[in-house]
Amino acid sequence: MSAHELYGLTRVINAHGTYTPLGVSRSTENVRRAVCEALSDFFVIEELQATASRVISELTGARAGAVVHCTSAGISLAVAATMTGLSIEMIRALPDTAGMSNRVILPAGHAVDYGHPIVQDIRLAGARPVLAGFEDACSIDQLEESMSVDRAACLLLVSSRLTRGESIPMREAVSSAHRHGLPAIIDGAAQDMRIDELLATGADLLLVSAQKYLAGPPAGLVLGDPELVAAVRAQEKGIGRSMKATKEGILGALAALTDRKDFDLADWRNRQEQKVLEFVRHAGRLPGVSASVDPDKAGMPFPRACLAIDPTSAGMDAASLVEKLRAGEPSIWVMLSGDTQGTLVLELVPLEAEEIGIILSRLASILVR
Ligand SMILES: *Cc1c(COP(=O)(O)O)cnc(C)c1O
Repeated sequence: MSAHELYGLTRVINAHGTYTPLGVSRSTENVRRAVCEALSDFFVIEELQATASRVISELTGARAGAVVHCTSAGISLAVAATMTGLSIEMIRALPDTAGMSNRVILPAGHAVDYGHPIVQDIRLAGARPVLAGFEDACSIDQLEESMSVDRAACLLLVSSRLTRGESIPMREAVSSAHRHGLPAIIDGAAQDMRIDELLATGADLLLVSAQKYLAGPPAGLVLGDPELVAAVRAQEKGIGRSMKATKEGILGALAALTDRKDFDLADWRNRQEQKVLEFVRHAGRLPGVSASVDPDKAGMPFPRACLAIDPTSAGMDAASLVEKLRAGEPSIWVMLSGDTQGTLVLELVPLEAEEIGIILSRLASILVR
């Protein structure tokens, strides 16, 4: 009996993307097996983390790596690592940062809310977020101005749907941090297909979710400078105790990364494009719907489907349509675009053809009267 049957849980078709309130992603059989096997055995966790570092290096080209509880934990731990290094006194003192440089600079447009404010991840370590520039733009000069006072690190965000304002050239931002003697941390939670490119910016630490497009269990990957990675690991004797990776998290994340070794990106990209094109072709015939294919803004290799709703011919606005989709059985979750209120955005990456068919017939049953 499935958990849905056992507990009477809502069945969901998730076209909302790698969304935490819906359980994020679907794992492959390899990942499921790795997690299951890990659960019934013991491991020397230090050895498991050393192995993780080696496997992450082999598979991504990073100089070192570690697994932490999730990306959110990774942000707090990376910030902590830049403040304490390996000093056990400082590690045990956090979040009390007396005597430490504790300001973390981030461009104002990167101070996003991904379900909670990202600046809270900084504060959890005891650090103080300092926003550089303005929400609609932060120049490299403005970023550097904020770096000229006492500070611990620079945090940059790469995200398709969250960052606001003009995009900041990452390589230049990382170089500015280095000119001021600051380590640069990049939160690229959903950017696991662009690890090479983000490491090439010269960032000292790159944080990537193991559970978003990598589709592993809840875990976060920390990649980069061996000393800083060691300082991240060392936080387990301090605030990192509540942010530790589990054995099944580590082994599941490694299985997910290993799956990527044989990954044919061109073929995958092509399949995602076809899936969205086909969906858009059908959805565009519905009354009040203008459908289009929207490439990912951050450069992830898949598009999303955009359905602009004309309330007059659809008989309802986009927000009501989103609610009606959600209220049905199974419950269908789509995004409502933040920029243009009248647009539904659907991410089809984890969905089977049958589920996409259910979305199309539900849209038809709501809109065609
Ligand atoms: C999802 C996300 C996070 C948090 O990731 P978790 O692994 O769920 O903690 C952090 N930053 C950004 C930009 C995200 O999109």
